[in-house]
Amino acid sequence: MGQIVGIDLGTTNSVIGVIEAGRPIIIANSEGSRTTPSIVGFTKDKEIVIGDQARRQLVLNPKNTFYNLKRFIGSDWDELDDTSISVPYNVKANNNGSVRVLSPNTEREYAPEELVSSLIRKLINDAETYLGDTIDSAVITVPAYFNESQRQATKDSAILAGIKVDRILNEPTAAALAYGFEKSSSNNVLVFDLGGGTFDVSLLKISNGVFDVKATCGDTQLGGNNFDSKIVDWLAEKFLAKYDIDLRRDRQALQRLTEAAEKAKCELSGLPKTRISLPFITTSNDGPLHIEETLDRNIFESLSQDLLDRLLEPVQIALDDSGWNAEDIDEVVLVGGSTRIPMVQQLVKTLVPNEPCQSVNPDEVVAIGAAIQSGIISGDLQDLLLNDVTPLSLGLETIGGLMKVLIPRNTPIPVRQSDVFSTSEANQSSVVVQVRQGERPLASENKSLGKFRLSGIPPAPRGIPQVQVAFDIDANGLLEVSATDRTTGRKQTVTISGGSNLNEQEINSIIEEAKTKANEDRIKRSVIDRKNSALTLIAQAERRLRDASLEFGPYGAERQQRAVELAIEDVEEYIDDDPQELEISVSALQEALFGLNRKFAAEKKTDNNPLQSIKNTFGSLKDELFSDEYWDDDPWDNQINRNYRNSRYGNSRDDDPWDNDYFL
Ligand code: ADP
Ligand code: MG
Repeated sequence: MGQIVGIDLGTTNSVIGVIEAGRPIIIANSEGSRTTPSIVGFTKDKEIVIGDQARRQLVLNPKNTFYNLKRFIGSDWDELDDTSISVPYNVKANNNGSVRVLSPNTEREYAPEELVSSLIRKLINDAETYLGDTIDSAVITVPAYFNESQRQATKDSAILAGIKVDRILNEPTAAALAYGFEKSSSNNVLVFDLGGGTFDVSLLKISNGVFDVKATCGDTQLGGNNFDSKIVDWLAEKFLAKYDIDLRRDRQALQRLTEAAEKAKCELSGLPKTRISLPFITTSNDGPLHIEETLDRNIFESLSQDLLDRLLEPVQIALDDSGWNAEDIDEVVLVGGSTRIPMVQQLVKTLVPNEPCQSVNPDEVVAIGAAIQSGIISGDLQDLLLNDVTPLSLGLETIGGLMKVLIPRNTPIPVRQSDVFSTSEANQSSVVVQVRQGERPLASENKSLGKFRLSGIPPAPRGIPQVQVAFDIDANGLLEVSATDRTTGRKQTVTISGGSNLNEQEINSIIEEAKTKANEDRIKRSVIDRKNSALTLIAQAERRLRDASLEFGPYGAERQQRAVELAIEDVEEYIDDDPQELEISVSALQEALFGLNRKFAAEKKTDNNPLQSIKNTFGSLKDELFSDEYWDDDPWDNQINRNYRNSRYGNSRDDDPWDNDYFL
């Protein structure tokens, strides 16, 4: 059986962790970083690029580089706010009102889940390489405040990536797991998670390995990006006033502004002011225009006041729901990159006066928690019990458009609740169950999670038939709804899957496509790999030839040297367009090299006379002085090396003094 991993699928950065020897660790990606930017793009050649590689093409290829996808996942078009939509790539609503992202390079539109699935695949691939084992399933974290649709959509992304989801875990709960792991004391903890795109608050009671989530609240459209936008607007407004040009209308300029704004924001976490300089940001009739500004921390703070206010409310609601006062909180755990902003830290201190806990890394703590949860599932870790809650109230729409709540928010999960409903008209033969999630009294103002009809109700006066509606939430926070006619026993059940707005057929076709693509990619990659290793072999062979002419002189191993030279020529001939011949010529070159190496070995063995051993000593000294690292394929390096040798030994007829064989 393959392994289980924990994935923090962040708006900005994603992190993957695993349990190794009983402890949670973070796995670095193939680029060597412990966090992977949650960015997916397509190059001109329609090739997909993910993570750092995608990040690098943000400015030059903004229309084909997709970030902040988590803000779109499982959301309808109408639910998105302006900041989410103001991205330099094209986002639109499809006929069903679901969000779709367009890539001009591939001439295709994508569901956000599809792109997120590529990101998951990369994390998994890199982790499989590290572990040397396959990965079958994962614990994936989501903001606690994600609704049903967003959870389902996240799960669909993993399915598209070919991964089973063992558990959808709330991010703050994961952070608390990481914080409380191996702590035996009893504590009331506030987890304050402000990342790039979302804000989450959770209150937990942790005692002896039992994690009880008391309340959770948040804002899925609030994060570091909003702070960046404040700086972008500040810069753009200044520019507009000066030159009458709105830079936000130019994708490339907007992308450069956004990057500069984020950089400035991060610098202001450590410095009182920072310079923002963006040369050649655009051109006017009078020539190129530039931005040169200094941003003070207090200007940034005054620009961001409304965002700070938005952080207050969820904390207050969570406190109210838990029945705790601020004084009841023992520890604050800060999570997410944006909690490095000084005014955010100050705000937290005004809410809870205790110094925040410093023992966790805000960038990695969620993935560590996810890894711990994966360890609990696999049985590697024991004695931890997690009792989470549902973040938002769940109910159905009753006559008159009112919301009837069956499961109030912050109810511990898993949970099953049911209630009995009846018909509103005489002889009504069917009822419609419209499932909704949210806190508003008017049903239409809450998120619709789907609806279904229970028919076949026998004729009866109004109010007589009894329809029992039951809501089941599993440990992942995923909901199943059923309705039963008590007279006939007729039952209808739905698992809420409206979230991703991808139907089963679409999901299957995407999976198929991904498989074919993966095959194509594998073939492409193996061609590239073969070419690269052929090039490496040639370089190696050429070095060996140089060694041979130093060691044996031009004729000492003529036959073997000639064989290697010929084999190199063959490999070079086939390297670009004949994979089969290439393979044959590569093995011929390997064989020829083997022959030459044997000659070296034989030479060493027969070298018994004292003079020869002196020669060998100098030979090895020579190896040190002119070792392979000086002799790589870079012509500049060789030049430097030659200069070095010339300066040391003089520019003699022959570069190498040892070649003159003074001792024979
Ligand atoms: P997510 O969970 O959304 O992936 P992260 O926790 O990785 O996000 O946080 C990313 C956010 O943190 C970005 O908006 C980034 O600009 C912000 N950030 C990172 N470092 C700093 C810093 N030193 N000061 C302010 N903001 C920061
Ligand atoms: Mg995060």
